[in-house]
Amino acid sequence: MPSFLFPPPPPVALPILGTDTLLPVRRVFCLGRNYADHAREMGNDPSRDPPVVFTKPGDAVVPGGGDLPYPPATAEFHPEVELVAAIGAMGDADGRDLDPTTALALVAGYAVGLDMTRRDLQAQAKRAGAPWDMAKGFDHSAPVGALTPATALTGIDGPPHRGRITLTVNGSPRQRGDLADMIWPLADILAQVSRLVALRPGDLVFTGTPAGVGPVRAGDVLQAEVEGLAPLTVRIAP
Ligand code: MN
Repeated sequence: MPSFLFPPPPPVALPILGTDTLLPVRRVFCLGRNYADHAREMGNDPSRDPPVVFTKPGDAVVPGGGDLPYPPATAEFHPEVELVAAIGAMGDADGRDLDPTTALALVAGYAVGLDMTRRDLQAQAKRAGAPWDMAKGFDHSAPVGALTPATALTGIDGPPHRGRITLTVNGSPRQRGDLADMIWPLADILAQVSRLVALRPGDLVFTGTPAGVGPVRAGDVLQAEVEGLAPLTVRIAP
């Protein structure tokens, strides 16, 4: 039996509120351009440019937020507040080609996340037709708060269907929207991702951000909130 060259890293894991259970993170899928007002502020036409799927490494997730290092190689570091859905145990489901209702039933819990972005590198990548990976999938680029169990959020008057989503920086309003304004609702996002890859337990899905994105600097304190979920606080390390 061969042994590992070095100990495999423990999985990144998210706490589930009201339980002593952790959700081990597998992969991170993200939606871009899923709120029309943000698509427009980024120079896209939401009637012509549909939402786009990209990824971050699972180990870019920073459970619970806290101090976040300012990343190297950027002069334009932007947070994007997002609703995050976590896929739970799936039983016999293989996660492929799901219909929206079936896909939504796989969600174990919801959290507030920040899709941290090197906006300058993203702009360069767009101009060059190059991949977004280093603009989006760098170290510590995905702070995520505690998960609220999906079973605690039944009905259409809260996440994932509707609810205020906001970001403040040093107490000043920065981003504000409503989950109901998503171009693709969460169930459709999950169905779409399942047509591209098989969804697996521990996959996280970031669902896009509303308008108001802008830069943050060392020392800034970011408060990300989705109505009905545990807030997420991040400080950019001084
Ligand atoms: Mn985003």
